[in-house]
Amino acid sequence: WKNAPPSLRWLVEASRGHGARDFTVYEGERVTFEAHFRAVVALAHHLVELGVGKGDRVAIAMRNLPEWPLAFFAVTAIGAIAVPLNAWWTGGELEYGLSDSGARVLIVDAERHARLRDRYDSLPALEHVLVARVDAPPTGKARALDSVVGPTGAWGELPDRPLPPATIATDDDATIFYTSGTTGAPKGALGTHRNLMTNILSGGFSAARAYLRRGEMPPEPTPRVLLTVIPLFHVTACSATMMGVLATGSTMVFMRKWDTVRAMELIEREKVNLTGGVPTIAWQLLEHPDRGRYDLSSLEAIAYGGAPSAPELVRRIYEEFGALPGNGWGMTETMATVTSHTAEDYLNRPDSAGPPVAAADLKIVAEDGVTELPVGTIGELWARGPMIVKGYWNKPEATAETFVDGWVRTGDLARIDEEGFVFIVDRAKDMVLRGGENIYSIEVENVLYAHPAVTDCALVGIPHRTLGEEPAAVVHLCPGCQASEAELQAWVRERLAAFKVPVAIRFCAEPLPRNANGKILKKDLKALFADRVSAAA
Ligand code: ATP
Ligand code: MG
Repeated sequence: WKNAPPSLRWLVEASRGHGARDFTVYEGERVTFEAHFRAVVALAHHLVELGVGKGDRVAIAMRNLPEWPLAFFAVTAIGAIAVPLNAWWTGGELEYGLSDSGARVLIVDAERHARLRDRYDSLPALEHVLVARVDAPPTGKARALDSVVGPTGAWGELPDRPLPPATIATDDDATIFYTSGTTGAPKGALGTHRNLMTNILSGGFSAARAYLRRGEMPPEPTPRVLLTVIPLFHVTACSATMMGVLATGSTMVFMRKWDTVRAMELIEREKVNLTGGVPTIAWQLLEHPDRGRYDLSSLEAIAYGGAPSAPELVRRIYEEFGALPGNGWGMTETMATVTSHTAEDYLNRPDSAGPPVAAADLKIVAEDGVTELPVGTIGELWARGPMIVKGYWNKPEATAETFVDGWVRTGDLARIDEEGFVFIVDRAKDMVLRGGENIYSIEVENVLYAHPAVTDCALVGIPHRTLGEEPAAVVHLCPGCQASEAELQAWVRERLAAFKVPVAIRFCAEPLPRNANGKILKKDLKALFADRVSAAA
């Protein structure tokens, strides 16, 4: 294993170095680093026996279970390509992921197996299905994963053997992660072992930088307990969290599903140091009326990324939890973190996504796709570095458009200040174009968030006959809070130019609909204004 890519060397070394420490905790099931590794070895040998080899795709469709990292490492350790599929996808969407990637094997949990089993026969490339946590023995192409590795409680008793021999280079393909599909159909981003491991340095770098700016030495990396609520099928959790856990010997605590009270119980019981993932998680913890009943003092940091967050949240995490807020910008095509922000830097610039991580280069490019723009100017953010994936799986045209000379065009509008801090202004596709004026939704959303009654909001563009688009907002108020449409419009008018004031505001009884990565489904929200649109037309 001396010549294996670092991602796999860490897997082997973690099983010895952190051996008896808990790697995952899930509903009373504790799996140590060593037990996890024994199961990885058993599953890796089994995959080889099934004929899986280098470059073959093996899909994983499971929510956060101890079997998720098991599947991921067994697949990548034999040089095959892991294809994590979104567990919230419908049967049809999962089928798209399986056929698009041409997966030969699927490792699936019982819920998704039920959603998919009628479709297995229409997938010619799919030869074998291994089902985790299934009650009745599966039939056809499928069999129980337990019959290969046994239940989690018995993984520690599996034989202590080496991984099957494999020749894997650091730049070999390791993963296909699908983008969220916010702007179109999800695309498979083809990542390498190098991409996968680059993140481990990124988070630590940001924390170290915060210390160095204060003139202090950063602490040694020490094992931590992470309440991992974001799904592992997104790069943020897999490559930024899970790979980091291998390197530091930290523990991932999984939840069956997000529940604020259950999360607070777990933070108290497991003495959780870090959580977050998406800003919503932090909001829900902050605003829960029973928060005072739990001891949450173990929390050291609440970090998130993937979606814009309100400056208000940054201050409140720091003041009300005494924890460090953290933010990072990244995308599936960058295998997670490209900018990373924490400590005083973040408190002083709560509207920034932070400076680039050590290994990344950034530039701001004009609409012509060529001209580099000067400091402080808004344009498209481009990124380069060892975290950028090779391209999209089976999509040469989209690859050529997005990956240019080692850079990835992000589709995000941003500016970078003289100190290198990045400010994400909007998605190029999320901007509301009202007549000749650009309205960046994040700017208006942040003003609405600052209103004491608003806990969730989104600005959308609704069609207008002469102006093209007009801004409209959907808000969710905190429990027991009151605010009228006119009052919120006046609040925005006091703070921003008149053309940015939402022409209509709709109230949503529930928090706004989001996808699994915390992104508000703005397309769905536009429908709330259908009456206005037809009246205007
Ligand atoms: P698709 O590319 O399929 O349309 P997507 O872009 O939503 O979907 P992801 O790769 O999951 O898929 O998300 C990356 C995007 O998330 C970025 O391009 C950016 O718009 C947004 N984003 C990520 N991190 C942040 C952040 N810290 N602040 C603001 N926006 C962020
Ligand atoms: Mg995208």
